[in-house]
Amino acid sequence: MSIGYLKSILENGRNIVCLLGRGPAAEQGCDLYREDFSYDVEVRYGRSPSEIVNSTFYNNRPEVFYEFYREDILNRRGEPDEVNFCLKRLEDDGKLRGIVTRGFFDLSRRAGCHNVIHLYGNIDRNFCPHCGRIYDAEYILSHKPLPLCEKCGTLIHPGIALSGEMLDRRTMNRAIELISSADILLVVGTDLQSRLGSMAKYFTGDRICLINTTDHYSDEAADCVCIGNIAKIMHEAYPVSLGIK
Ligand SMILES: [Zn+2]
Repeated sequence: MSIGYLKSILENGRNIVCLLGRGPAAEQGCDLYREDFSYDVEVRYGRSPSEIVNSTFYNNRPEVFYEFYREDILNRRGEPDEVNFCLKRLEDDGKLRGIVTRGFFDLSRRAGCHNVIHLYGNIDRNFCPHCGRIYDAEYILSHKPLPLCEKCGTLIHPGIALSGEMLDRRTMNRAIELISSADILLVVGTDLQSRLGSMAKYFTGDRICLINTTDHYSDEAADCVCIGNIAKIMHEAYPVSLGIK
């Protein structure tokens, strides 16, 4: 379907909720799941990124975990792009009610979006498991080798979800509630069969609009599908002035 159709849905729509996948971050080059990145990590650490971002590894080898977390996650966070600023404009215009994402770089919030639900955590919400104090990415980057809580001395837990740990149920419930009360679901940078995209099953509203880099057989469940460069499509459908930060 055409960008024109997406444009009219966004221009006339209210009560939009966005499922924001890793497509936009991948277009920016900060995709932890890229094959060349995995290979590079295996060469340097002798393990894949998914083996490192794991609760057992974190508990047994916290120094190595934090080296990886600093060098290969925090230092790759990138900057908010047009996709994030477009979502910000939709929010400013009273159309977008919230964003649900698996991304943990927090780029939408840095672009100015307010209601962002991070299902897998956020690199600026590292926390002390003992007293609950929150530490941003800068604190982790500047406290080597192990970042300790300045209040109680406990090893800080990274803000991102580690495999082997339970996802926060309350966060998941908030996301489900948001999706199920939306009129329009804007699925960006993922397909409807992915872990994030499959949350569309909670949607009971009018239209699903999907924007992704590649097509997928599940796209037919969407009412409006745009395939290509996500930033370009978003910009054409709902332009933002460049340079707004
Ligand atoms: Zn503490």
